[in-house]
Amino acid sequence: MDYQALAALLFPDVTETPESLEEKYPPRQLPEGAVVTRMAPSPTGFVHLGNLVQGLTAERMAHQSGGVLFLRVEDTDAKREVPGAVEVLINTLKHYGIHFDEGATMDGDNGAYGPYRQRQRADIYHVYAKKLVAEGMAYPCFCTEEQLSAMREQQEANKETTGYYGKYAMWRDRPMEDIQAQLDAGNPWVLRFRSTGSIENQFKFDDLVKGKLTITENDIDHVLLKSDGIPTYHFAHAVDDHLMRTTHVVRGDEWLPTLPFHIQLFKALGFKLPKYVHIGPLMKMDGTSKRKLSKRKDPELALTYYKAEGFPVEAVYEYIMTLLNSNFEDWRRANPDAPADTFKFSPKKLNPAGSLFDYAKLTDVSKNVISRMDAEKVYTLLTEWAQEFDPDFGAKLTADPEYAKKILAIGRGGKKPRKDLAVWKDAKPYMGFFYDEYLQKPEFDAKFDKTVIVDVLNRFLNSYDPADDSGTWFDKVKGITTDIGFTTDMKAYKADPSAFPGTVTDVSTMIRLAVTGQTNSPDLYTVMQILGQERTAQRVHDAIASLE
Ligand code: GLU
Repeated sequence: MDYQALAALLFPDVTETPESLEEKYPPRQLPEGAVVTRMAPSPTGFVHLGNLVQGLTAERMAHQSGGVLFLRVEDTDAKREVPGAVEVLINTLKHYGIHFDEGATMDGDNGAYGPYRQRQRADIYHVYAKKLVAEGMAYPCFCTEEQLSAMREQQEANKETTGYYGKYAMWRDRPMEDIQAQLDAGNPWVLRFRSTGSIENQFKFDDLVKGKLTITENDIDHVLLKSDGIPTYHFAHAVDDHLMRTTHVVRGDEWLPTLPFHIQLFKALGFKLPKYVHIGPLMKMDGTSKRKLSKRKDPELALTYYKAEGFPVEAVYEYIMTLLNSNFEDWRRANPDAPADTFKFSPKKLNPAGSLFDYAKLTDVSKNVISRMDAEKVYTLLTEWAQEFDPDFGAKLTADPEYAKKILAIGRGGKKPRKDLAVWKDAKPYMGFFYDEYLQKPEFDAKFDKTVIVDVLNRFLNSYDPADDSGTWFDKVKGITTDIGFTTDMKAYKADPSAFPGTVTDVSTMIRLAVTGQTNSPDLYTVMQILGQERTAQRVHDAIASLE
């Protein structure tokens, strides 16, 4: 067979050569050890936690080593594409702080190794497809869908491995006349790889996450170009990662089964094999067993979920870091204020079996992250969230920023900051009572007679002086307690509750309910300081009125 002639016949329009492409995309001039890697998602419109896990791994590896991170849009599967998906992708990754040095952007490309959208690279793939044909390493296959399913059925009936290989590879060695006849008839064809591998052979392979692997060779003649001339992922990835000078391929381990084919392809194309970082899946506990997070069953897989709940980006970031590198948490404890990117990330510490996603843990991490923020920052992030997801609350926050910041400053700073907020959604239940429209009608404990509660509240109104410091204020509350025959001695009360009609805690709760409408609130003295004397008194008056 004259492979050169076949190559010319199949790719008459290809004028460029691999050599000219090598020149156009020269090796990068980077310091020794610099990692060049990428995120290469398909624009399906759904950006998920797995993308972020992969993205952050790639990002850390690139930037920690003084290398390059780029974004390549893998849009070869037009069927899966959703309009606007690339924009969603770019915006979401940006929101989560993944900074790309080059790659696809909103309105085009940034960088010298583009285009970064695979569909715009058809001509480039054809140069290498032609080369493979010319060297006898790829051939056209004219099988119809019917022929392929008949083949599969027969293989299943014979209990053989399914696929296009060995004696089933019908077009592998067909003469030129047959090919010419099909082309003349205008029949569609795909380009297949001519595999020389055998499943009898195994070889060793080192993956940066999975460790040492024993891999069985591939004997299937996989498709390189589909009938519309668009490459499959396998072929596109080899060509792109070579020409974009990728040193490390960071991707999900669902690609591990086709890795033997990828290794063959790099070799056939004369490319240096990059290093591989195959990341295990994200799992969760379902009852007593683990399972992969699923798009259908688990809303928390979608990144939009975290935004809507109001997890700060930093919290999601820190949580993913704890998932990826188990020593991150200790590091954070020792360095509470250090920027997260000063942590030394290592892909080798990833669990090869994947990570167990734990929502409660994420919530804890988020509480810590928010508790370390100052009021100004909390105000900015909370307002941003509220304006999108709770506009009414958002409007209240922006109507008087200084007031909101005073509220948000409660319990902040200091050694043991309060941890009331895990997500921005928690803010309204926590602080809503500061806004009169959100104040709930107090529900006093029915075990106290209304006259007792009214008495407490009146005594409180008569004694309250906003100029008091918090010690004096609380002494007054204790004074009221003993004046009405309740006790301030909690120990004695616990020893024999029946000996007392009530305690200082009950008195405080009555006042708290009157002022905040709830039994739980941040420090009541501070709350009153922020509300001011007039509004505090008004609320207590209203509570009394509601009891009479
Ligand atoms: N487009 C592939 C995916 O979304 C990319 C895998 C890779 O990073 O090479 O799974």
